[in-house]
Amino acid sequence: MGEERRPRILMIYTGGTIGMKENPETKALEPFDFNHLLDNVPKLKMLDYDISHRQFGHPIDSSDMHPCHWEQIVKVIEENYHEFDGFVVLHGTDTMAYTASALSFMLQHLSKPVIITGSQLPIGEVRTDGEENLITALQIAAAKDKDGRPMVREVAILFENYLWRGNRSTKKSADNFDAFSSNNYPELAKIGLGITFNKEALWRSPVTDSPLDAHYNMDTNVVCLDLFPGIQENVVRHILSTPGLKAVVLRTFGAGNAPRDRWFSEAIRDAVGKGLIVINITQCPNGEVAPYRYTTGLDLAQSGVVPGHDLTTEAALTKVMYLLGRGLKTEEVKHYMQCNLCGEMS
Ligand code: ASP
Repeated sequence: MGEERRPRILMIYTGGTIGMKENPETKALEPFDFNHLLDNVPKLKMLDYDISHRQFGHPIDSSDMHPCHWEQIVKVIEENYHEFDGFVVLHGTDTMAYTASALSFMLQHLSKPVIITGSQLPIGEVRTDGEENLITALQIAAAKDKDGRPMVREVAILFENYLWRGNRSTKKSADNFDAFSSNNYPELAKIGLGITFNKEALWRSPVTDSPLDAHYNMDTNVVCLDLFPGIQENVVRHILSTPGLKAVVLRTFGAGNAPRDRWFSEAIRDAVGKGLIVINITQCPNGEVAPYRYTTGLDLAQSGVVPGHDLTTEAALTKVMYLLGRGLKTEEVKHYMQCNLCGEMS
């Protein structure tokens, strides 16, 4: 019997609070390079892993994240896919759920762990949450099942005491260590004295043994429109007639309901008639769009609006960017928006 080899993990450092340092003059936090981060976690050496890393040219605050950065992350993962057992992406928390959702669509047939983590306090601070998050993320990326296959075969967010499915996650707190939630799907693992995986919840692709199929093209001709009582006709019509716009994620009330003002129904009907893809998701953190429950929702469905079921805003936006980016026809995009591609909808 050969000796078991050490897990090989690739860390991809994009920036975020985890690696930031205080600027002595302005007192504002600024992204710092990877060596600063490693110097502050000497415990990493205690893990018996082969850890390599890649750093973005210049680490960024995740509010500056752009689909071109998602492409860079996907490229690093694709180029190193066979060499490593798992990947840990260090990322700011602000747009982490968007990146996690986007990567889940861009990395089709993923069968290795891509664990995204970060922290609320910089890793150099005494009370930082970054050290624990980083070490746990590495352990999860290295975890194997009893057959020696990766325990996690999807994009997930590790934060504080939980591992969440990436495309089900949302940032819920600007200052708590427990900063993420997944309101329509259970945790993939609980972190306590040990790491307890919720095996029934982990993604297992129905297509096994297919090679990783990485996609780079995200079409950003999309917008998110939040309804509120009193929303003005000129605003809605202006947004819906934006030149080049291809899809609108419409965040509606409750179970997918919208005002029944005549102008609103007409504006939506006109937009759909002109080929715009309109996706209905709920503003409620928990639950799903049930378009046939109320007439206010039925009107939308009858206008050709696509029900987004229980998609998060982050997943709905990045899913439609991905489908449009694949060059699919309008009807195909509408069809796939309602299909579960990688665990993003129930
Ligand atoms: N502004 C930071 C970022 O998202 C916040 C964080 O990392 O927690 O990059």
